[in-house]
Amino acid sequence: MKFLDTLREKIAHFMSGRYGSDQLSFTMVIAALVVTLIGALTGTRVVLTVVADVLLILVFVRMLSKDRLRRAHENQVFLEKTAGIRKAVVEWYNRMKNMRKYHYFTCPKCKKRLRVPRGIGQVTITCKECGEKFDRKA
Ligand SMILES: [Zn+2]
Repeated sequence: MKFLDTLREKIAHFMSGRYGSDQLSFTMVIAALVVTLIGALTGTRVVLTVVADVLLILVFVRMLSKDRLRRAHENQVFLEKTAGIRKAVVEWYNRMKNMRKYHYFTCPKCKKRLRVPRGIGQVTITCKECGEKFDRKA
């Protein structure tokens, strides 16, 4: 096990001061997998393999980078630009997860999404956001 301990130490030493992984890198790995899959399914493998490889090389470059501030800034920009998409995905996921328990309605006045337990029948919904009242069947 001495060899493994030495190897672990060497890796820890090599990685010290380096940036490591973040949400942007993780997303790039997923994107590379998706691109590879699309390439395999559509017969455009060569072109898309190059795209996937470039993505993975960038991931490694970012992970091993010692310019931590710049990498953190890139990740911050990525998180800001994708905030809307990420929120929509989380909302969609929660809706799918709670589909059997809740009915989802959109407030006719302010468009806020509201949920009501299923199976309670005719109900007057009061919007939490703007106070608008409307009748629905849940
Ligand atoms: Zn409302």
